[in-house]
Amino acid sequence: MFADISFPISSYQVFSYKIPDQLKSKASIGLRVMAPVRNRKVQGIIVSLKDTTDFKGNIREIDSLVDESPVLNDQLWSLITWLADYYNTPLGVAAKAALPANLSATYEPRSQFYVKAKTGGIPLAANAKSQIALLAHLSKINEFVPASTLGEHASSPIDVCRKLAEKGWAELLEKPVLPDLAGFSFNPIHKKVRFTEYQEKALSQLKTSMDGSEFSPFLLHGVTGSGKTEIYIEAARHGINQNKSVIMLLPEIALTPQIAGRFKAAFGDDVALWHSKLSQSARAWTWKKICSGDYKVVVGARSAIFAPLKNLGLVVVDEEQESAYKQDSPDPRYHARDVALMRGKIHGATVVLASATPSMESYYNHINGKFEYIHLPERFGGAKYPQVHVVDMIKESEETEVYGGIFSRSLLDKIQDRLDKKEQIILLHNRRGYAPVLRCDDCGEVSMCPHCQVALTFHKNGKFLQCHFCNHTQRNLPNKCRECHSINIKLSGIGTQKVEDELISKFPDASIARVDGDAIRSGLNISEVLQQFSEGEIKILLGTQMIAKGLDFANATLVGIINGDTGLYLPDFRAGEKVFQLIYQAAGRSGRGRIPGEVVVQSYNQENAVIQCATQLDLKKYYNICLDERQALNYPPFSWIVRLEVHGKNKSAVENAIQRLKNRFKNIPKGIEILGPAYCYRERLRDQYRMQIVMKSKKEYDPNGGKLHAYYKSIIKSNNGAKLKGGLRLIVDVNPVSLL
Ligand code: ADP
Ligand code: ZN
Ligand code: ZN
Repeated sequence: MFADISFPISSYQVFSYKIPDQLKSKASIGLRVMAPVRNRKVQGIIVSLKDTTDFKGNIREIDSLVDESPVLNDQLWSLITWLADYYNTPLGVAAKAALPANLSATYEPRSQFYVKAKTGGIPLAANAKSQIALLAHLSKINEFVPASTLGEHASSPIDVCRKLAEKGWAELLEKPVLPDLAGFSFNPIHKKVRFTEYQEKALSQLKTSMDGSEFSPFLLHGVTGSGKTEIYIEAARHGINQNKSVIMLLPEIALTPQIAGRFKAAFGDDVALWHSKLSQSARAWTWKKICSGDYKVVVGARSAIFAPLKNLGLVVVDEEQESAYKQDSPDPRYHARDVALMRGKIHGATVVLASATPSMESYYNHINGKFEYIHLPERFGGAKYPQVHVVDMIKESEETEVYGGIFSRSLLDKIQDRLDKKEQIILLHNRRGYAPVLRCDDCGEVSMCPHCQVALTFHKNGKFLQCHFCNHTQRNLPNKCRECHSINIKLSGIGTQKVEDELISKFPDASIARVDGDAIRSGLNISEVLQQFSEGEIKILLGTQMIAKGLDFANATLVGIINGDTGLYLPDFRAGEKVFQLIYQAAGRSGRGRIPGEVVVQSYNQENAVIQCATQLDLKKYYNICLDERQALNYPPFSWIVRLEVHGKNKSAVENAIQRLKNRFKNIPKGIEILGPAYCYRERLRDQYRMQIVMKSKKEYDPNGGKLHAYYKSIIKSNNGAKLKGGLRLIVDVNPVSLL
């Protein structure tokens, strides 16, 4: 018997080995082995088994097996090989993205005792007061509870429970404390669920599909608060009952502790949370437990799509339009939504892409009949859509003679009104820091990062300027303009810290929390803040786009968007779509409970179609406008895109290299269009000059993208496998989420 072994070296090339007789019965795909490579023994993974080999050279034998049970299954291996090919990454690099770094790490989770009362024990001594009291309490609950939570009833509850168990009055159970809870999920929330007619219908569509065990993709388009999460849970339950497993993807697990909590409540120890904050060893441990079938459900961010579950029946991608699903770097630059679809194909699973604001791609796939469509047009429980007001900030400035102010009068009034009514407020401002730019009043020169073509942002706490791309920090603020030496340099623009200052001065008695990248980096525990907000301790929640989605707080009745225009004029084909989605989603945080909500959007571009449609909550209208635009300009979803980007420290070397690359574009197939080379929008980042060529392929001539795929590969191959010399790098981005 022979095996193909893949080694985690940069190429991850696959090599054939012989399996010695004594290991034959144990060898299987996904097991790690030690095998000789030159004169060393190296760890690799068995990726296929066969009876014969066509390898002609001297074939060597596997030395030993590392695992008892496989750390990979063949379906996952097919996915990894697809990933490598589709995103043009060496197999090894693709495998690294999928597998935890150090699978050999040892880790044992702490364990915890659970206890439950039973009957028929031997009589307890009359003076064993705590035993009697505890037993009385346990009999009332009559289900397993963690012994550590019984401190109220006995000073050392575990000892007392042990005694009760010895005497036959209690059952004790030791269970590992899973490494995933702390900070990433709310306490399990139990609630009674009665599905609405829409939900029932959605569920029956999903269940029928899951019963069929064939790949079927769905777009679940449900307005904010329509009860999508309850549907995920019920569909997952259906899968588990059929002994299938489930992957639940969330764009950013730390920001959605509520959803994780709801899954925990529903499935308890059957759920693993998979996220970047797990330690390496906890990750390896969780991986192995998933392999051995201990978990039925994996809830996690992007990389959870690679969880080695067997018998996968359902994959849900929540907020599928989120760009957090796209890995930016390192390679492979995969999109978890696309990987989810491929994984669904491999497993014959049901894949649900869900959102209140679907991506243009998924929306178009539904229009074209490629995805089955489920629509939930109403909020659950009769909650009304919020009323949206747009404040024209140009008019506001003229009337108040305050230019560049943060709050309009109407937003201030409404905030005060909610505070008076003991309701809560969510304020969105998609710009962190204090002031985004330091500008010379005389010549207009802006302080830029020395490493990037990006303006430095002023941060008030600590008084420094920082680049939000490379984190370059400048502690001595310039006292005069670099260009004209004028001393008239001023901070301008508005960041969340400035908004916070203004809030504190306007509403000194309200408790305010600011959630943004800076706050989190300086130790803010986001799930704690969200918990406090949900309990009403915090009245005003201010944050960047982090707080715009997925949160469900019944008492938040006002959402204010300080600057609805942020990002509107970025030179990217998705700029409008993103602004629309952000406003629409943020509005969806308002009025989710009994009390109707309101939304205030401040804008300097009232007439803009994005602002108009978003504030009218008219999704269909905007999506039609947007699709027309994309079609006219031949952008996705009407075309496939591959972006080739050359990076380097030396500007002219970058220019020359990309020009050489461009010269290789010959015999361009019909339907493929080449843009560039041109400098990227941010022409220098982290000391690297960046130029790009964008290849677009019309779907009309290239329905599944295969043509573009073959063509760009041929170009790169002819360019010596894309290897550039002299510190230059070529980055291949397949289906980029932005062209900035
Ligand atoms: P979405 O994910 O679509 O934004 P959620 O699933 O968070 O919506 O639902 C909004 C609120 O309504 C949540 O508090 C949820 O628990 C509740 N809810 C939704 N459907 C039901 C149901 N059938 N029975 C009880 N509560 C429900
Ligand atoms: Zn100047
Ligand atoms: Zn920088």
